[in-house]
Amino acid sequence: EAHLQVAQVCKTYASPRGATHALQDITLDVPAGRFVSVVGPSGCGKSTLLRCIAGLDRPTSGEIRLNGEPIVGPSANTGIVFQRDLLLDWRTILQNVLFTTDCRGQPRAAWAERARDLLDLFGLENFHHRYPWELSGGMRQRVAICRALLDEPKLLLMDEPFAALDAFTRDDLNLELQKISLQTACTTIFITHNIGEAIFLADQVVVMDRRPGRIALVLDIDLPRPRR
Ligand code: ADP
Ligand code: ADP
Repeated sequence: EAHLQVAQVCKTYASPRGATHALQDITLDVPAGRFVSVVGPSGCGKSTLLRCIAGLDRPTSGEIRLNGEPIVGPSANTGIVFQRDLLLDWRTILQNVLFTTDCRGQPRAAWAERARDLLDLFGLENFHHRYPWELSGGMRQRVAICRALLDEPKLLLMDEPFAALDAFTRDDLNLELQKISLQTACTTIFITHNIGEAIFLADQVVVMDRRPGRIALVLDIDLPRPRR
């Protein structure tokens, strides 16, 4: 359960050529379990917003809270998937999924079953002991999603996770992600520049503007389809 609140967030990057206002007065209230897609043209501030929510970057002003607690840095409550899968070539698929809990020094035995179940859910049951370079792009990104979901994060953040994949693989992954998100009830922020994908997955679509860093429109999606 994670209630995400973004309140009047501004982010300004300073450079010798002047300031870039990447986010300007962003306010969003995302109730627990909601799936929100963020769409908008390149450079409108989507990734900056996600990095701030992830605690990987700090807003210049404003505040971001998860269940009322300010987000001040990376947290175990948050799973992240980027466009690049960032799998480690010297670890097997199973070991890649176990990366975060390994880093925390938690025993493999405690997490291996969950890791295997997640991989199986994504149709990767025959690939536990293979290496990333043996897998297709779509399969690698499925592994990255499993890694992000391993320790049951409250918040799942995805930054153009399928942008590098072909249209067919992308459709498959959208269906699988929809299925998984109906099961997990993770609060999810999904960045994409594909409006069809945004609408297919989300309860709500936030459209960011060409005037950089602003929200232009918030659409509630109410399609007849499975609900949480
Ligand atoms: P999007 O994800 O929508 O393409 P970004 O959040 O990446 O947009 O970028 C928003 C704006 O902030 C852009 O003008 C970009 O050049 C600028 N920007 C992003 N990150 C940095 C940074 N680390 N330093 C300076 N400017 C940045
Ligand atoms: P794409 O290959 O376009 O990224 P998918 O990731 O959906 O598409 O893969 C389609 C299917 O092809 C997978 O379910 C898998 O069974 C098979 N496949 C893809 N790459 C490999 C591989 N390196 N080794 C064995 N089977 C593979």
